[in-house]
Amino acid sequence: ASPRRDFTGSGARAVLLEVYGYDAFRGEQAAIVDHVVAGGDAVVLMPTGGGKSVCYQVPALVRPGTGLVVSPLIALMHDQVDALIANGVHAAYLNSTQSPQERAAVEQAYLAGELDLLYVAPERLNTEATLRFLARGKLSVIAIDEAHCVSQWGHDFRPDYLALGDLADRFPGVPRLALTATATPATHREMTERLRLPKARHFVSSFDRPNIQYRIEAKSDPRRQLVGFIRSMPEGSAGIVYALSRKSVEQTAEFLSAQGVDALPYHAGLDASVRAANQSRFLREDGVVMVATIAFGMGIDKPDVRFVAHIDLPKSVEGYYQETGRAGRDGEPSIAWMVYGLGDVVQQRRMIDQSPGDRAFKTRLGQHLDAMLALCETIGCRRQNLLAYFGEESTACGNCDTCLEAPETWDGLVPAQKLLSTIVRLQRERGQAFGAGHLIDILRGASTDRIRQQGHDTLSTYGLGADLSDQDWRSVIRQLLARGILQAQGEYGTLAIAEPAAGVLKGETAVPLRRDVLGRGAGAPRLRK
Ligand code: ADP
Ligand code: ZN
Repeated sequence: ASPRRDFTGSGARAVLLEVYGYDAFRGEQAAIVDHVVAGGDAVVLMPTGGGKSVCYQVPALVRPGTGLVVSPLIALMHDQVDALIANGVHAAYLNSTQSPQERAAVEQAYLAGELDLLYVAPERLNTEATLRFLARGKLSVIAIDEAHCVSQWGHDFRPDYLALGDLADRFPGVPRLALTATATPATHREMTERLRLPKARHFVSSFDRPNIQYRIEAKSDPRRQLVGFIRSMPEGSAGIVYALSRKSVEQTAEFLSAQGVDALPYHAGLDASVRAANQSRFLREDGVVMVATIAFGMGIDKPDVRFVAHIDLPKSVEGYYQETGRAGRDGEPSIAWMVYGLGDVVQQRRMIDQSPGDRAFKTRLGQHLDAMLALCETIGCRRQNLLAYFGEESTACGNCDTCLEAPETWDGLVPAQKLLSTIVRLQRERGQAFGAGHLIDILRGASTDRIRQQGHDTLSTYGLGADLSDQDWRSVIRQLLARGILQAQGEYGTLAIAEPAAGVLKGETAVPLRRDVLGRGAGAPRLRK
């Protein structure tokens, strides 16, 4: 570590150069830093990789006292503190991983006014002891990172954040910043209110990541599709592949390795030493593909990740944006690629149904999923849809799959009616409900044991849908689910009609459907230069 230097009273630009080695502030950083150095509160909405750290670290160094940073991620805390110490900043953290001696040393340094920055986990700030202790020293600024965690309607709610509003009373006169990379207009309002920042200035950067190309394909054979996609990328591209379960992570990593891709697994169930080794290979070597659960990536600062692939549907647009945002932090062309299918929709609805929590909680999860599905099924520009979700208006981007090759649509009214009336008949006449597979068998006139045993070959819609393939029917069902015309229920994902189905059955609601794109082989994704 470099010797400790005192930056109090230095110019912000001088600190930026001396501590970080940057010549200039980026985007809104300069305005934010000036505002906070002058004592103002700030709400900062900036995408991942936008440079939020500088916004509170520089004011903390320039103003007298210690900057308090509330951060929920212990791993991230350690990384940031190590990096700061290496740059001659006296930074430390207080968290549950420390021994009493280590904690005492940090506390002493704070009280002696020797700390520039102190990182604390939110649960610690909920205790009277910590608050009293902090009041005995001098704070320069209070930064609340990942501030969206205070939103009960957000995707990442942490109850400990609710108490952070009290810091306003505890430390009057200390400027406070709330920072986040994920904020819809509703979360933004909630954050401002709950963290009690009524007089704060709001700095809202664009959430657009123009160098990321968004692509979403229908899922048929996800691992093969994934290999095809990875092969379409320039040789040696580093990437992250997100999967939902640990098992799927391991199987996918093995499959990719067998196909000659330099792939490693990462999930919370692996030995800490394996995880550390895999992460370090990913960070240090070129062209490693990390197959991971969403446990991976928080605070990973690898600028040249060329692609982020999802082989399972994320639970929310916020999650999708955050995960895909790990691609292309260096500003170079990168791709966010995803496959998703009927199984994803059924599985996620089931997980919501079975999740513990009250009705309001499940409704909220359902709304998050609906927004994600709308992004998947849109026939408009993906980026425009994504940015609109964050309250940002934009025009068609020219750098997403739907802009690059306009999706075909077709009239799905008649097939939708056939399907819905099959479901209605089975329900009304026989009190039965089935999943997608069996319904498709009925519509396509298949002759399975189950159909014969149940006598479903006598239904009036039996064989009426033989003009569509199995794949086509799955696409129809997926899109009807996405639009809430159908509902998947219970453990087996049996299908039932929902209210909007009435209009379709009467022929009053049009049902334009997207023609699925199944991996376009060699003509698939291209990085745009
Ligand atoms: P965020 O927390 O918003 O995701 P970080 O604070 O981690 O972003 O910064 C993202 C990257 O941008 C880091 O690699 C950081 O070093 C770099 N960076 C931040 N500010 C500047 C700047 N003014 N000039 C050059 N690089 C910067
Ligand atoms: Zn577009």
